[in-house]
Amino acid sequence: MRAAIPYGRQDISEDDIQAVVNVLRSSHLTQGPVVPAFEQCVADYCAATHAIAVNSATSALHIACLALGVGAGDFVWTSPNTFVASANCARYCGAEVDFVDIDPRTYNMSVDILSHKLALAEQNGTLPKVVIPVHFAGQSCEMRAIKALSERYGFKIIEDAAHAIGGRYLDDPIGCCRYSDITIFSFHPVKIVTAGEGGMAVTHDEVLAKRMRRLRSHGISSDPLDMEPRSTDEIWNYQQIDLGFNYRMTDIHAALGLSQMRRLDQFVTKRHEIAKRYDVLFKDEGITTPWQHPDSYSSYHLYPICLQQDQIELSHQLFYRALVAEKILVNLHYIPVYRQPYYEALGFKAGYCPNAENYFKAAMSIPIYSTLTDVEQNEVVSEIRKVLH
Ligand SMILES: *Cc1c(COP(=O)(O)O)cnc(C)c1O
Repeated sequence: MRAAIPYGRQDISEDDIQAVVNVLRSSHLTQGPVVPAFEQCVADYCAATHAIAVNSATSALHIACLALGVGAGDFVWTSPNTFVASANCARYCGAEVDFVDIDPRTYNMSVDILSHKLALAEQNGTLPKVVIPVHFAGQSCEMRAIKALSERYGFKIIEDAAHAIGGRYLDDPIGCCRYSDITIFSFHPVKIVTAGEGGMAVTHDEVLAKRMRRLRSHGISSDPLDMEPRSTDEIWNYQQIDLGFNYRMTDIHAALGLSQMRRLDQFVTKRHEIAKRYDVLFKDEGITTPWQHPDSYSSYHLYPICLQQDQIELSHQLFYRALVAEKILVNLHYIPVYRQPYYEALGFKAGYCPNAENYFKAAMSIPIYSTLTDVEQNEVVSEIRKVLH
């Protein structure tokens, strides 16, 4: 029997393993030198000034919101076509979340819909403090236009680039923060490069970087410039200044992430080869392959296909079940976040973002990852054809 083919998985080399073993034999399993080395590597790669490594992208989103001052009474807007973490981060801070429907071609937050929604919010006095565009599947949002809107309406921008390290927008690597205040990455094993678990926030802003660094480690600082004056006959080698968290990344995780960064471009090139093969193999099958915006070079974290329901009789649900039964472990990215019971309990209703709902009813993420072989890819395509016809 053939092994199951997942929609995504990690690619671990002997060098990666050795890098982790080296940390295990060293003096520091955490708070050692490998975390700053990983931070520097990611900052250099994406041409950002500061990088703050944390234990997940979810933690990065949380401290990014806090660093930008998100709190009770504020509004944070994101895409409905994302993982729940992109919205939950605002809820952790006590803010209200709202969703901007997607563009039916890129599946990213629609700039036109954002623009209309902002004009309305201005009249109602409910403008967002922060907008979180999500670079879905690794393809950049239209950041130039979103940045222009942020200048007109005065909101801050966090790019959720959990899918998108190694991708590019116009002339820049994603993460360069030319059009945003902060960009965050994820190093979960299904993402482009992995640290086992892990995340990072990058920024050019020194004040934001300092706040995020403090928040990731209990809100504590040992910099005398941050500390309040205290009696000189007591020892004050640190002070807690904010209510922070333990969101630190360990050196064990950082070693894996740092080692993986060496192959990042190779991983993305391989994903492009797989995507190109799918694009050709799925011509004339009643399937829409992911359209690529000319301004974007995707990292192809996902390869979502959509069934053209006027051409295909099989239901979305039966298509999904038939493939999983054949051990092609396709997945759904994403159920619109506001349809989750937690968000429906806050008052969101089905029908709120029709483009995201139509996409969800047709979409399926099929296997794409750097170790997927041509033989396995052919297997995926022939199983899909068999199920459809
Ligand atoms: C995976 C993911 C996250 C969360 O990443 P973790 O590192 O697992 O916390 C956030 N946003 C998006 C879009 C994701 O896909």
